[in-house]
Amino acid sequence: MKTVFQKIIDGELPCDKVFENERIIAFKDIAPHAPVHILIVPKKAIQDISHATQEDAPLLAEILFIANALAKQFHIQDGFRLLTNNGVDAGQSIFHLHFHLLGGRKLGALG
Ligand code: AMP
Repeated sequence: MKTVFQKIIDGELPCDKVFENERIIAFKDIAPHAPVHILIVPKKAIQDISHATQEDAPLLAEILFIANALAKQFHIQDGFRLLTNNGVDAGQSIFHLHFHLLGGRKLGALG
């Protein structure tokens, strides 16, 4: 069964897209936790960061640079958070690797 993000990648579900190339798509979170809340998603179906392999290293690096570019584009480059939830206990609800880019307000401590 396809995840929500796989359906978005395959064009079967709409999204508020802010970036796309052959390897990565980024779109606004449907239930934002901050004024800027963007999800950066590799198109490759990796369950979570613990399932990434050495061969995914360039893809993961590219995600970091796309996060930087999006932070600039959305004017949060002076204070943003980039995070990924790994596993149910961390709050992961969609089991296709994704990174949350959050900013636009004072972000509290993690916990
Ligand atoms: P996580 O809990 O880390 O797995 O994050 C999943 C995120 O996906 C949550 O912040 C949801 O609000 C978001 N989300 C779920 N469905 C959609 C959707 N169709 N479009 C955009 N964001 C979504």
